Amino acid sequence: MELNQLTAHELLEKLKARQTTPKAILDSLHARIQKVEPKVKAYVRLDEPSLSKGIKIRKEELGGLPITIKDNICTEGLPTECCSKILQGFRPPYDATVINKLKESGAAIFPLKANMDEFAFGSSCENSYFGPTHNPWNLDCVPGGSSGGSAAAVASDEAIWALGSDTGGSIRQPASFCGVVGLKPTYGRVSRFGLIAFASSLDQIGPITKDVRDAAILTGIISGYDPLDSTSVNQGVPDYTKSLSGDIKGLKIGIPKEYFVAGLDAEVKIIIEEAVNKLKNLGAVTNQVSLPHTEYAVPVYYIIATAEASSNLARFDGVQYGYRAQSDNLIQMYKLTRAQGFGREAKRRIRLGTFVLSHGYYDAYYLLALKVRTLIKQDFDKVFRDFDCIVAPTSPTSAFKIGERAQDPLKMYLSDIYTISVNLAGIPAISVPCGFTKKGLPVGLQIMARPFNEEMLFRAAHTFEQNTDWHKLKPRL
Ligand code: GLN
Repeated sequence: MELNQLTAHELLEKLKARQTTPKAILDSLHARIQKVEPKVKAYVRLDEPSLSKGIKIRKEELGGLPITIKDNICTEGLPTECCSKILQGFRPPYDATVINKLKESGAAIFPLKANMDEFAFGSSCENSYFGPTHNPWNLDCVPGGSSGGSAAAVASDEAIWALGSDTGGSIRQPASFCGVVGLKPTYGRVSRFGLIAFASSLDQIGPITKDVRDAAILTGIISGYDPLDSTSVNQGVPDYTKSLSGDIKGLKIGIPKEYFVAGLDAEVKIIIEEAVNKLKNLGAVTNQVSLPHTEYAVPVYYIIATAEASSNLARFDGVQYGYRAQSDNLIQMYKLTRAQGFGREAKRRIRLGTFVLSHGYYDAYYLLALKVRTLIKQDFDKVFRDFDCIVAPTSPTSAFKIGERAQDPLKMYLSDIYTISVNLAGIPAISVPCGFTKKGLPVGLQIMARPFNEEMLFRAAHTFEQNTDWHKLKPRL
């Protein structure tokens, strides 16, 4: 196997034993990117010579393993544009807290950033200003979104591991579509300082990796209290690798009946049922449970998320960051900048969000959505009184064709029907590869746990992974 195909923990061992060097790892990534990137397009701004040259030499950072970063996480001096025209040319003067933590741990920040839906609005990576990323398992299909670039880069071995962000499923759903591991941490576990905000009450940064051990290591590095993020929670960070015990005997797993209804693809359903049987064979005890407010999750999410997005995006007016349209009239400059800088989906969300927050509609939509959000959270609290975790599909289907849902926003929004409730409730969840469709597309198993019980996720996902081979398969590119 080439170095770029290995997991981070395998490479860390090799580095420790002096069997390889960071430069050799970067060279193998560089060779892989040259070979497959024209097909996959996981990275953006590849044509900027200063960045692609940086793949080879960033001497000061060669102390460690390279890590790929989504384009909405601030990296000092490196372009961070949320794959939007409106942030064109923005190079943050500071690092996000997660980047600081990675650098302190000796990681090398990969100079190319991963593609994403503009401002993380989407489930397919088709809303990127730079054009879509292709699924490494089938280039005609989407990689999922919005962290599609990060997931495709890891799946195609163009990255060792990566960071994504998850507001309604943007780590787990692309991980599921690309056959890799993705974790959305508990709200408040990982600092959001330096993550360009989509919906501040839902956003979390998390790992996208080749296996569960790497996810546990990376979560450990990026987690922890940060005074720069007022929603960061001051709670100790355990050594997550200690939860990789390989034992789930007696674990109580709830299977939510609302997740196995019309809309769930028949083939995906069978694969998930087989995975649940596997967990049972490994000693877990499963029971059907109910999350009765599940049907409201998508509408509630699209009210709260767009409300917050419309407010967060108000700062992009051509004055402080990125793109500015030319006009000698200030108001006209604002208008033109936003008209030309935002893509279609961003404009749709700004409009929807402004509407639900406006006088006369606030109570009917926004306030009501907040109340139903509480009910959704209480559904989980109730189940977690009796169960250690909840297991369900990550997505109702495997990866769909590029273009298939782009014209139908409602259909696109339904891609996240199984991931969104987790963000509304603030709980952690992981997606782990659990099989392939007959057409050769990966399927992910989602495991959810109580707030701040990421250890439970790692324990269950790792045990499942170590008793299956899905994570070892590689796309042919
Ligand atoms: N697909 C969902 C949306 O479009 C979630 C995106 C995300 O998690 N960033 O909002």
